[in-house]
Amino acid sequence: MELERVLVVDPVDGEYTANVRISGTKIEAIARIGGEFNSIAMPGFVDTHSHGAVGINCMTMNTGDLQKWERFAETHGVTSLIPTTVSADSNEMKRVADLVSNYVSERPRTAVRGVHYEGPYINPKKKGAQNPSAIRPATIKELRSVLSDIVVLITMAPEIEGFLEVLPEIFKHEIIVSIGHTDATYSQIKEAYESGCGRMTHFPNGMNVLHHREIGCVGAGFLLPMKLEMIVDGIHTAPEFVQMVHKIRGSEAIILVTDSLDATGLSDGMYDLGGLKVEVKGSTATLEDGTLAGSTLTMERAANNFHRWTDCSLQELAKVTSYNALQNLGIPNRGRFKEGFVADLVLLNRKLEVEETILAGQSVFKAREGQG
Ligand code: FE
Repeated sequence: MELERVLVVDPVDGEYTANVRISGTKIEAIARIGGEFNSIAMPGFVDTHSHGAVGINCMTMNTGDLQKWERFAETHGVTSLIPTTVSADSNEMKRVADLVSNYVSERPRTAVRGVHYEGPYINPKKKGAQNPSAIRPATIKELRSVLSDIVVLITMAPEIEGFLEVLPEIFKHEIIVSIGHTDATYSQIKEAYESGCGRMTHFPNGMNVLHHREIGCVGAGFLLPMKLEMIVDGIHTAPEFVQMVHKIRGSEAIILVTDSLDATGLSDGMYDLGGLKVEVKGSTATLEDGTLAGSTLTMERAANNFHRWTDCSLQELAKVTSYNALQNLGIPNRGRFKEGFVADLVLLNRKLEVEETILAGQSVFKAREGQG
């Protein structure tokens, strides 16, 4: 496969016009040519926090559902997807992990790269849309039963009982602990950071706010060199807040996520999220009491919003939509335009709409003419 006259957007080397040759699953050669380009070629988007889409809920899905969900994500430029659970009992968590593990092992080419456990080891005071009856402290015994190679991320609150004691058990599996759904003080977050937790979940949602005498979780996100997941939909975060984070922390710190629900890609109505009723109206998903319950965002729209609101370069956009997440997960051979890297990429038009998605060297989505 040959991509002719594309604007290559590499998160490290920057932007240039080139012809790109793909052979098998990999990028074989990149020839810089300069001049005009037809399409923009970026590393495929990475969504490390998504609960479902097109009627599929991570907690109740079967293998066919996951396939349908993956296909949907690919239509929006995603080439790495991390299905994310909500607070649930350990059997439900394990069921999802086993299903995803089997799914991945049976497919030589898939965008699914692991599981993110969002909870249940979080602070019930900052539960957001998580089911409070499933929230509990972490124990080594339970972690031993739910952790496996397929789990790549866990969202936890550092102030919950036993937090520091269970960390070594989690790190043993090379799993990233992301701080979230938390009411921690700044010093609790700092201690967690110094203990190896370098990431925050959907910053600043599900956290206490910044106060000038106790800068709390939001202050910690601005001050400490942690990676920050962000839901850039204009509902979970105002455009000005996104601008602030970009200005203060830079594009190196930000990891765009969708936090998308099963209602993503569906019309307005009532849906089920981990046993809770969720209403979708326009692009907002709320619980009966009005609490925000995840989003109906796609990575394509998140990328668009971020680019518009921060006025960032495409190189920066490649970092926040792909490279930072892959680096954080420790996936070394994806997310760059370099010979020998896996050809996971997305072709976009000048309005940053997805034209084509290429997963491990194969075209998995092509927008119809004029649909762009
Ligand atoms: Fe959440």
